[in-house]
Amino acid sequence: MKTYEKLFIDGRWETPAGNDSISVTDPFSETACGRVPAGTDADVERAVVSARRAFGVWSSAAPAERAAVIGRIADALAARQDEIGQTISRELGMPIKWSTRIQAALPATVMATFAEMAAQGPPEQTFDNVRVVKEPVGVCAFITPWNYPLHQIVGKVAPALAAGCTMVVKPSSEAPLNAYLLAEIMAESGLPPGVFNLVTGTGRVVGEALCRHPEVDLISFTGSTAAGRRIGELAARSVKRVTLELGGKSANVILDDADFQKAVTHGIKDIFLNSGQTCSALSRMLVPAHRQSEAVAIAQASAAKVKMGDPSDPANYMGPLISAKQRDKVRGFIQEGSAEGATLVCGGDAPPPGLQRGYFVAPTIFADVAPTMTIAREEIFGPVLCIIPYQDEDDAVRIANDTIYGLAGAVWSGDPERALRVARRLRTGQVMINGGGFHPRAPFGGYKQSGHGREFGTHGLEEFLETKALLME
Ligand code: NAD
Repeated sequence: MKTYEKLFIDGRWETPAGNDSISVTDPFSETACGRVPAGTDADVERAVVSARRAFGVWSSAAPAERAAVIGRIADALAARQDEIGQTISRELGMPIKWSTRIQAALPATVMATFAEMAAQGPPEQTFDNVRVVKEPVGVCAFITPWNYPLHQIVGKVAPALAAGCTMVVKPSSEAPLNAYLLAEIMAESGLPPGVFNLVTGTGRVVGEALCRHPEVDLISFTGSTAAGRRIGELAARSVKRVTLELGGKSANVILDDADFQKAVTHGIKDIFLNSGQTCSALSRMLVPAHRQSEAVAIAQASAAKVKMGDPSDPANYMGPLISAKQRDKVRGFIQEGSAEGATLVCGGDAPPPGLQRGYFVAPTIFADVAPTMTIAREEIFGPVLCIIPYQDEDDAVRIANDTIYGLAGAVWSGDPERALRVARRLRTGQVMINGGGFHPRAPFGGYKQSGHGREFGTHGLEEFLETKALLME
């Protein structure tokens, strides 16, 4: 049990203004594993004031100085990788091997990429009598979810630090413990006081106070589309810059000339990673109608090999879902899928055998899914794959794009040129081609209602820069 009683404000551990706290539940044991303060408007006020005060110092620090501090933070994240992996495995339920590899290792890598970018300084441009310079946006507020909790915080904190911004972080209430490890690292990094502030609490109180605060210049939010809409509305009142990373319903387009064994197996690993709680999860597998049964057989055999259970067991690939609420929501979608006439291939809404305790949902696959069905349209955010048959390439592209979301996608073909052609037709921020891997510098973000703005790499950095034109004599 990890109990935190303070907030990190102005470079110090400060007692919160209120007395309320938030309990953190271990989704495997269904018992409390932590407690953090429920911040209030007064805590937000202190944090924003300290970030505003620190902006002068940090925005004018030399690129080499910023790079050195960010480099030290990256090193400390790498050094504490095991502890971070265990913490997130416990509060989120992701099995330890994957939590350490992804949830803990990735933030250290991403932080290091921004140390390099900080060293280069912001890009400038000169033409005729014009010099275009880039400057940090100002005070930023970051509101983040629980599914890749530290990765999502670092995806905002690292570029903001590199750009010269100061910030207040409000992590998710479900998995906030990792944010304390980051704050501990910040406290020892040599970062000037007030550059990084941590205020835990609910979205309704702390999140909304940040969105309304006149001294916050930019809000970067990752989470549900519903909360994103509310945040956009609040931020618009004081014309803040807003970056939204929202939900997804990504299509995995398997063309008729693809290596089915490879493509389908990859798709299974993708949808069941983190128990399907991945915003870019390839939750719709589009297969040629005349080869659906072949794809279903491979998917079923591959799903049968997915090991699920205790997150502390390194042999497991899947753990429980984050909460009872999330489990019940996912079960509801599974019931709806069956009711609407999709074919249940494996899994289902019953508790998986031997896993009565913990918020488990079995790896579930539906076939014969029509694009109009609820399970094909709504983000389930659980281990549920929809296999959707299509008639031809144009039909596949039409179905892939027939969604309010546009976060990610994938295309598989024996002909790389054809795969590329189809990938260009998908209205999404990322497309994986023939299993192409994640890259920490590749821009990530959504089209349509998956949000706007990009994270990671130089595109992520630009979100935190203002553009100024100097008109010379
Ligand atoms: P959520 O929207 O409920 O919460 C996200 C964060 O917003 C939390 O910190 C929460 O406290 C805060 N929040 C909630 N309501 C708020 C309000 N009215 N004002 C201010 N802050 C508020 O989402 P979640 O359940 O934590 O995460 C799951 C969702 O996040 C899924 O829809 C998923 O697709 C999405 N997601 C998107 C990405 C991406 O990069 N596109 C990444 C991860 C998760």
